[in-house]
Amino acid sequence: MALALILAAGRGERLGFDSPKALVGLAGRPLVNWSVSTLRDVGGIDRIVVAMPSEDAPGKRQGTFIEGSSPVVVLVAGGETRSESVRMALAAAGPGDPVLVHDAARPLLTVELVRRTLAALAEDDSLDAAIAAVPVADTIKRVGDDGVVSETLDRSALWAVQTPQVFRRSALERALDVPAEVLAQATDDAWLVERLGGRVAVVPADGENLKITTPLDLALAELLIARRPD
Ligand code: C5P
Repeated sequence: MALALILAAGRGERLGFDSPKALVGLAGRPLVNWSVSTLRDVGGIDRIVVAMPSEDAPGKRQGTFIEGSSPVVVLVAGGETRSESVRMALAAAGPGDPVLVHDAARPLLTVELVRRTLAALAEDDSLDAAIAAVPVADTIKRVGDDGVVSETLDRSALWAVQTPQVFRRSALERALDVPAEVLAQATDDAWLVERLGGRVAVVPADGENLKITTPLDLALAELLIARRPD
């Protein structure tokens, strides 16, 4: 059975709230609850582990989050960096393979995208991971410290990467077994697998699986939720 890790330990300063980003309200529910609820509806996920800021997850709030729920939802303290939070959540997770990693900052995740990402990995034994991504629509340029363009990249081969990212557990564990400095460089977990030569496939997603970073993203997410059929 699969295991899901939800990363919710970021501070989210750019959103401009005092509370951690994952607890900011979106259409009446904390951001993190949207992902928990979608992952519970997927079926085939045995356990969901949520990494929260350490001051929000100690003592009484740590442990079983939604009692008696299926799958079981567990809260753990996250780390200093994103991939450190993944390592801590995985260490506390118990059995389960493959491992799905999802950012709480992407609350508009759909059951359909999760199932397609899990299926992409299950259907190809040569893969170590399958990750949601969208082809890049903008032209991307490399710019020097002087503000001058040094290179225009070939857009046809560029994808903007999202979560969910699904990993074979052994590949993810090996990839996370590196010094904290390496984990700190990772802006996604697939990179840690790629740097060891792992095979990672993209699964086409869409822009609706947006990442909440600024108040504008939050307003857009509210509109997209209001448009969803009940
Ligand atoms: O900072 P970034 O935008 O990459 O964060 C992506 C996700 O990782 C967010 O959902 C955030 O809560 C989570 N995160 C975490 N632990 C950290 C930093 C970020 O769980 N130390």
